[in-house]
This record gives sequence, structure tokens and C-alpha cells, in this order.
Amino acid sequence: MAANKKLLMLPGDGIGPEVMNQVRVLIDWMDRRRHVSFDVTDGLVGGAAIDAHGTSLADNTLADAMAVDAVLLGAVGGPKWDGVARDIRPEAGLLKLRKEMDLFANLRPATVVPALAKSSSLKEELVSGLDILIVRELTGGVYFGEPRGIETLADGTRRAVDTQVYTDGEIERVCRIAFELAGKRSGKVHSAEKANVMETGVLWREVAGQVAKDFPDIEFHNILADNCAMQLVRWPKQFDVLVTDNLFGDILSDCAAMLTGSLGMLPSASLGAADSDGRRRAMYEPVHGSAPDIAGQDLANPLAMVQSFVMCLKYSFDMGEDADLIDQACKNVLDAGKRTSDIAEEGVGAISTTAMGEALVAELDSLAA
Ligand code: NAD
Repeated sequence: MAANKKLLMLPGDGIGPEVMNQVRVLIDWMDRRRHVSFDVTDGLVGGAAIDAHGTSLADNTLADAMAVDAVLLGAVGGPKWDGVARDIRPEAGLLKLRKEMDLFANLRPATVVPALAKSSSLKEELVSGLDILIVRELTGGVYFGEPRGIETLADGTRRAVDTQVYTDGEIERVCRIAFELAGKRSGKVHSAEKANVMETGVLWREVAGQVAKDFPDIEFHNILADNCAMQLVRWPKQFDVLVTDNLFGDILSDCAAMLTGSLGMLPSASLGAADSDGRRRAMYEPVHGSAPDIAGQDLANPLAMVQSFVMCLKYSFDMGEDADLIDQACKNVLDAGKRTSDIAEEGVGAISTTAMGEALVAELDSLAA
């Protein structure tokens, strides 16, 4: 079969290469059993790229990222590079990738498989079966607005300024993605802002409402961001897709993440604008970092990376059936009690990263039989 699905793998640092290896195992399985092949290129990012090229993102790696259909990233950073100059630190490579690829929509699912409902900080009945998708605007708002800075006034007072700024176009494009995704899920969108006290909130609410008119089949609600935080911990299952700005999205997505119990289970996707062929730039990465404390020990939970690959299959390659198959394999493996140490009760009976990959393949074999 033609190898036309172009994928760039950037394993990065720490546990990044270990969890990425389990995606390679799944890609081999898909090649063998589903006759689906990917055109995979490998590259360096973060500390690994600093060691090899003196910069956390080499120009040719960036060019590769711009040319492929999707980028899969492990994690960057670690104490080894704590002392490097700020402009080449590992995270700078990741930020540059996101910026150059104009990845304005960050998708963070918070799902709780019944087998892990006990790991949540909330009561089991509140979270079991939870399936929320947070769509966070990623390239605008207060993290990028100008003017910003800290100044000292004539009387010696120090004054800090950040600027929250959004154009209607920036709001519209991220809301449109949220509505499109809701159409493929249970069909409900909440849009969170602070229209009661912020001008950007007023514009956000107006534009989200306009976009909603183009999606009459989707149930639509505006919600104030502070109430949204309360509702997330009160009754999270009321949400399906939640779209919000960069700052509120940063906070609300971390809050939703905790409902699921483990960092090792959380994937993410970042999407850019579609070109004239409908192709979107996209990068998929686990929410967790490089976990230097367990790196190199075959202990990391690979499921967040695997679920990032599942999102890649769904959103970049329209391979819903394959995505569902791998997702089901993850659920079955957990139902069978297989756990890496981060999700095993008091670490008892934990299996390795490699063993989790092998368990997934065995499960896929039986699902596909
Ligand atoms: P971290 O996510 O790397 O680790 C936090 C804790 O969770 C650690 O105890 C770690 O062992 C555990 N953990 C994380 N992922 C796990 C997994 N898959 N399986 C099992 N346990 C897991 O966050 P941190 O310790 O704050 O940061 C470590 C490094 O990672 C820093 O250099 C930081 O800058 C970087 N970082 C990178 C990213 C990224 O690449 N997107 C994100 C966050 C942090």
C-alpha cells in the first residue's frame, strides 16, 4: 500500500523516546495487520537537539514539520539543560514549533475510563465515563498581547502590564473548530469567557454566538469562566466540548485533567488553519513532561502518547476505525488490570513501558482476529 501519510516523530528528552517507541510498535502492527503504512521521518527537538546541533530546533527539523501531515512529539526538557541560554532552552524549540506552525487550537480531552475512575480526586460516580474535550485558543490573548512588561514609574512604583487582546477572526476560527468537533461527538458546546467584566469576553460571546448559528444542530451554551471552573468539579459530565481563550483554557484544562487522575493518561492535539485542500497543520503530544525522575527505567506510562497517536489518526488522517480500535485496546488492557506504576494502586503489580506496549499489541491481535 502507498506510504503517503507523512508523519514526523520528535521523541525529545527523558521518557519521550520510551513512550514514542510504543507508538512505533503500534505503527508496525498497523502495517502488518491493517495494511496501513506511514511515511515516518525522525527528528530531534529540545535537549536532544541542543546536544546534537546546539539549538533546540534546527531549521531542517522545522522545515520537516511544515512539510508533513502531522507531528508527533514526546516531551522536552530536563535538568541537564537547566543552565543553557534562555533562547535555546529545550522549551524554546517547542514554542517555536507551535508558533511557526500557527497551531491556534489546542485540544485536550479529559476522559475517565471506568477502570481508572477510582484514581480521580472526585467521587467515582461523578467521573466514571467522563468524556470532555477542551478546545483552548493557543496563539492569542494575554500571553502574547502588547504592551506587556514591568516598568518603574517616576515615584519609584513598579507597574506590571499584560494585555488581553483578541480579534474577531481569532475567536471565530477556534470556535468553528469546537463546533465541528462537537458534531462528531455528542453535539454540545459550552463557550467560556468573562463577558460580565472583560471587553474581550463581550466580543468572544458575540462571535461564538454568531458561529453557533452556522451549527443549528449543536446545543450551545455561554458560561462565565469562573462558574465553569465550579461546574467542572461539581458535575463535570454536563460538558461535552468546552471552548475558551488561552488564559482560561490553561487553567480550566488543568482542572479537567485532574478529574482523570493521572498525568500519564492525558493526550493533546494542536491544530492550525486548513489550507485549500482542507489539510491542517497539526501536532500531537502527551500533556506530561519528560519525567526525568523515571527516565531510562522503562517505567513510564505510554498511554498518553498512544492516545495522542489515536487523536492523530482521527483528526489528521480521518482513520476513525483504526483510532477506535487502538482506543478499545487501551480500555481492554486497563480493564484486564494492567497498570504502569503511576496508575497501579500503591505501585503493586506494575508493568513496564515495554510490557504495556506488548499488552496493547496482544489486545489488538485479539480484537482484529
Ligand atoms: P512531568 O510531567 O515531567 O512529571 C511530573 C510527575 O509525573 C513526575 O513525578 C513524573 O515521573 C510523573 N509522570 C509524568 N509523565 C509520566 C508518565 N508518562 N508515566 C509515569 N509517570 C509520569 O513534569 P515536571 O517534573 O514538572 O517536568 C519535568 C521536565 O519536563 C521539565 O524540564 C519541564 O520543563 C518539562 N516539561 C515538558 C513538557 C513538554 O514537553 N510539553 C511539559 C511539561 C514539562
